[in-house]
Amino acid sequence: MKATRNEAQVTQRVDFQTETIVTPGNCVNCRQPASTTINVECSSGVDLILFKVWRWHDFEFPVCSWCKRRRQTVGTLGIVFAVLAAIGWIMSMFVFEGFVLRFMPRELWLCMVLVGFFAAAYFARNLMTSALDAWLLGVCGVRLTKQGVATLWFRDDELANEIKAMNR
Ligand SMILES: [Zn+2]
Repeated sequence: MKATRNEAQVTQRVDFQTETIVTPGNCVNCRQPASTTINVECSSGVDLILFKVWRWHDFEFPVCSWCKRRRQTVGTLGIVFAVLAAIGWIMSMFVFEGFVLRFMPRELWLCMVLVGFFAAAYFARNLMTSALDAWLLGVCGVRLTKQGVATLWFRDDELANEIKAMNR
């Protein structure tokens, strides 16, 4: 098989069997010696709190305590922000209720409140975790198939290749 330049550039995405994954000993983000581990969630599906089609698997990656603390702190702030945004959205809709109801029926207005709320919930539950993992850890889950094959994304393609070789 010929490896083209193009193929070499897409090695940031690596497929794994969920039950067998070996990782190097260094921090997955900064490559300093790791002192602890952190779970990186790989999932597929949609979770809208009331309606859920969801598969996930947690991968344990070595990480230094500084990178772990940073990821956890920003993750907590993200959840607080998402909850405040959802509450703020609903409250602002009630503040403008009198004004809005001059232009539309109450049913449509309630639908808009709910759609906004679920959009915030969808973002917080389905997109925020992998976005923060990619930003702060340099690794995130992309998808997980029914057959248990997980695709992970790595910012550093050298690390992606190293992990791919270790899990051959
Ligand atoms: Zn680190």
